[in-house]
Amino acid sequence: MRQTVTAPMFIDTHCHLDAPPLAGRLGSVIAEARQAGVAKYLVPGVSPTGWGEIAALAKTWEGVFPAFGLHPMHAELYSAEVLERLANHCSGGAAIGEIGLDYLLAGVPREKQLVAFRDQLRLAVATGLPVLIHCRRAFHDLLQILREEKVAQVGGVMHAFSGSIETAVECIRLGLQIGVAGTVTYRNAVRPLQVVRSIPLEHLLLETDAPDMTPEPYRGKSNEPALLVETAKKVAAIKGLSLEEVAAVTTANADRLLNL
Ligand SMILES: [Zn+2]
Repeated sequence: MRQTVTAPMFIDTHCHLDAPPLAGRLGSVIAEARQAGVAKYLVPGVSPTGWGEIAALAKTWEGVFPAFGLHPMHAELYSAEVLERLANHCSGGAAIGEIGLDYLLAGVPREKQLVAFRDQLRLAVATGLPVLIHCRRAFHDLLQILREEKVAQVGGVMHAFSGSIETAVECIRLGLQIGVAGTVTYRNAVRPLQVVRSIPLEHLLLETDAPDMTPEPYRGKSNEPALLVETAKKVAAIKGLSLEEVAAVTTANADRLLNL
């Protein structure tokens, strides 16, 4: 009996291919990623000035999908006009993001972040698009807004999730998936490991957040989608599964949510 062996296929659900270290050599970045089995890439927008470039990348490169949104680090740019531009752009995207709250950011007023986040979430629910959520040290406020704005109607991803198991469970109850990034490979990682261990694979998505969050053993160099496999290997080891099983389930999860 001969078995057909198909290479595992991964989706990088969060990578900034428009960012300088990657944008300049995208041909080889994508070729290396494909070689490693990472065939699709979701590129989230962070500010209105980058939306056009992301839309252009998605038209140019096979497997590249855009999302549009205003990152909390740029919340000060938020205005009714930005929301209107987002409303015009977002139908061409697979999701709205990245959006969220980041209370570790000094100098970006929380009031501004809260308004930008809530309005973009409302736009997502109104347009039926899932959301890509960035959250650091703001889970209490974030969960309350997600509940009030009924995020379950559209679903989404808690990108590079950094919270506790309890918070992950609450996010899943609200209809969100948990994004696992390279932090799970770090020697001093505690929470990401606990979360991956306790949350069923059906609720996990893989991402690189390239060019940031480079996984072990490549820390120190710029991250790229090909290195998603290091995170996948770690998830497989934690859960006692094969790399193929991790690829199949997490790719199905991403397809269900993002429809890439
Ligand atoms: Zn990001």
